[in-house]
Amino acid sequence: MKTRFILLGPPGSGKGTQAERLTAQYGMPQISTGEIFRYNIANDTELGKKVKEYVSSGGLVPDELVVDLVLDRLMQDDAKGGWLLDGFPRTIPQADSFAEHLTETGSAIDRVLYITVPRDVLIKRISGRQVCEVCGKTYNIHSFPTKAAGVCDVCSGTVKARADDTEETARNRIDVYEEQTKPLVDYYRTKGLLTEFDGTEPVDETYAKIEAIINS
Ligand code: AMP
Repeated sequence: MKTRFILLGPPGSGKGTQAERLTAQYGMPQISTGEIFRYNIANDTELGKKVKEYVSSGGLVPDELVVDLVLDRLMQDDAKGGWLLDGFPRTIPQADSFAEHLTETGSAIDRVLYITVPRDVLIKRISGRQVCEVCGKTYNIHSFPTKAAGVCDVCSGTVKARADDTEETARNRIDVYEEQTKPLVDYYRTKGLLTEFDGTEPVDETYAKIEAIINS
C-alpha cells in the first residue's frame, strides 16, 4: 500500500476534502499547514502571532518557517508510516528543502495528487465554503450545506466561513497559487511523480481514482 502523498492544487480544489476521507479510511495523518496556522492564530500562540498577517491577506508564510514546522510534524510517531501533505510544499524552495529531508531520512514521495479546477469555479467554491470549528469537517453553502444552518452534521459544532475565505482574499490566494505554487506541477511531473485529477468531477469519483493509486 502506498502511504506518502502530496495533495497539490489551487485553494478550493478539494484537497482537504479528499485528505479528510483518506485519513479516515487509511489512517495516514493529514498534515495541513493552513490548518496548523489557523489553529495557532485562534489560540494566539507565538507561531500564530508570526503568521497572522500572511494568512489573513492570503499571502504565503516565509519558506523557512513552514519547512521547520512540517519537518517537526513529520517526526511525530503517527507520521512514521505515511502522510498526506495538504498545502505543502507551496513553493520550489519548500519542495527542494523537503526533497533534501526525504533523502536524508531515506524516505520518498509515493505520488503527487494534482487536482485541477477552473478559476471561476474556485472562487464560487471558496466563497461558499464553511468549516466546523470543532471537528474541521468542510461544507459548502451551494453544493454541500449542513442539515441545520451553522451546525455541524457530525459533531454539532459551530460551522462558519474561514476568515480568509472572502472573495477578495480568494482571488489573491489563487493569484499567489498561479505564481508560486503552480511551477511545482512541472517540478513533480519531471520527476515522474504527478497524477492529475479533474476536480470538477464528483468527489467520489476522484476518491475512487486515488484509492486505486493507494492500492496499486
Ligand atoms: P490553506 O488552508 O492551505 O488554504 O492555507 C491557508 C493559508 O496558510 C495560506 O493562504 C497561506 O497564508 C498559509 N500557508 C499554508 N500553507 C503554506 C505553505 N506551505 N507555505 C506558505 N504559506 C502557507
